[in-house]
Amino acid sequence: METGPTPADPPPVPLAYQVMLKPRGAICNLDCAYCDTRYARHGGHPATADRIVEWAAETGLATVEVTGGEPLLQQGTPVLLERLVQEGHRVLLETNGSLSLDPVPRGVCIIMDLKAPGSGMFQHNRWENLESLGLPEDCMVQDKFMGYD
Ligand code: SF4
Repeated sequence: METGPTPADPPPVPLAYQVMLKPRGAICNLDCAYCDTRYARHGGHPATADRIVEWAAETGLATVEVTGGEPLLQQGTPVLLERLVQEGHRVLLETNGSLSLDPVPRGVCIIMDLKAPGSGMFQHNRWENLESLGLPEDCMVQDKFMGYD
């Protein structure tokens, strides 16, 4: 007798995502009305670029997204990004769009917020960043529009 799927058999789910490592910087210069990562704006655990690079290698994950808070507030972030690129990772940087992108090394995919008026942080958008956004060939996301209004 032929058997078909039973209610216990979940339907196949296409894999449209990938697992990535997300080191999160623990400071931010903004205070968005909808912030969902307030926990990331205080405290944290200090880690050197060497340790994070080592950690990324240990996970075996190809993609590393450096996020925050606002990672560009931390002096060591450009060095960390550079090291991760050199190690062959696909490197994403998530930034709130208020700071210069000049320190970001080549080869990093930049995911940049544009703060809407409802965030209360609209005046902090650094519009000139839009001109310096490039598109490394394997970047799928270049910028994002955060908030409401
Ligand atoms: S930029 Fe991000 S982390 Fe900072 S306050 Fe806004 S939503 Fe929160």
